Amino acid sequence: MFPRFVIGGANVERDPMSDSWNHRTRAVHAGTRRSQYGEVSEAIFLTQGFVYDSAEAAAQRFESLGEDEFIYARYGNPTVAMFEERIASIEGAEDAFATASGMAAVNGAMMSMLKAGDHVVSSRALFGSCLYILEEILTRFGVEVTFVDGTDLDQWRDAIRPDTKAVFLETISNPTLEVIDLRAVARLAHAAGATVVVDNVFATPIFSRAFEMGADVVIYSATKHIDGQGRGLGGVILGSREFIRKTVEPYLKHTGGAMSPFNAWMMLKGLETLELRVREQERTARHLAAALQGHKGLSRVIYPGLPDHAQAQVVAEQMGGAGTVIALDVTGGRDAAFRVLNALKLVTISNNLGDAKSIVTHPATTTHQRLSEAQRAHLGITDGLLRLSVGLEDAGDLMADLTAALDVI
Ligand SMILES: *Cc1c(COP(=O)(O)O)cnc(C)c1O
Repeated sequence: MFPRFVIGGANVERDPMSDSWNHRTRAVHAGTRRSQYGEVSEAIFLTQGFVYDSAEAAAQRFESLGEDEFIYARYGNPTVAMFEERIASIEGAEDAFATASGMAAVNGAMMSMLKAGDHVVSSRALFGSCLYILEEILTRFGVEVTFVDGTDLDQWRDAIRPDTKAVFLETISNPTLEVIDLRAVARLAHAAGATVVVDNVFATPIFSRAFEMGADVVIYSATKHIDGQGRGLGGVILGSREFIRKTVEPYLKHTGGAMSPFNAWMMLKGLETLELRVREQERTARHLAAALQGHKGLSRVIYPGLPDHAQAQVVAEQMGGAGTVIALDVTGGRDAAFRVLNALKLVTISNNLGDAKSIVTHPATTTHQRLSEAQRAHLGITDGLLRLSVGLEDAGDLMADLTAALDVI
């Protein structure tokens, strides 16, 4: 089924069938490069350099790099290329560039496309480090950034100008799980000629078909659901071949945000089980959110899959699932929230998400500690708010642990 070839050889063939496969099949097979040994599991090419047959061959490769030819792992590596091709295939993107972390991807996408004098409109409810890049770094280099409430289309309409170069948003925001009407925002942005950049981490490639909704560039932290087992950092930028090769690649290959071959292998194998894992995690999250609603220890249960979620309509129309994260507002503020955290026996206190293990975070004192009290209040990050990333454990065991912990207050 796959052509067998010597890595670095000139006779590389692509499997012509891959475009017609369903995404479930592509998640397991796309991008596979098999060496002369005929291995079943993709090889880890743990090498930063590549040898050339002759001085002429080296000169030739530097002059024009053919497909499946490599020079240096900061530019590209066979295992990294397998991951890039597989996720691009699942996502329906022309091309992808893998990065050392999700933040290297956000930074790489934004810094490579923007210059002093450009204008960006961004949703305000962002992952802390994304906010830092937009608010502190880009502005330091003369990029003007306007922040809007992501769920308010009028604010997007007012903020986007004829000279707006890009809009940035997280489809499902962290940690308050607002869902943005991506289709509508993309329409407004495209009317102004702006590039739509989406951080799709919370939604995963399975629940949000961001390109079909109008995104031009999609970013993942592979650290989260793609690895899904809490082992390593990674990220990826997906987009048109033109954008990835002409804008992103030159920036990243010279600034050093490349993904390591070992982590690329982990993420590549993670993609094979991604859909099975996140669908199961989503099923459990849905069950827990519904079961916890109305609990007397909670003033709010936020989950995009609940019928009373403020953007339930957008979720129904634009997403294939509501995600694997729930936000719980514990009555009694920070002290009560801490008591609940400390009483949990199965769910661990940490700040990753998308893991097979269920994880709970108190955003106000950890991930969003850097924000002022006023900023947190504006984003709905109360002192009682907990972010629960639902793992692969039994739903009944999780429910028992959560209700026992809530009982202490
Ligand atoms: C975790 C995360 C990132 C950053 O990813 P890293 O791999 O930790 O660098 C960016 N955006 C969102 C929404 C995230 O959850």
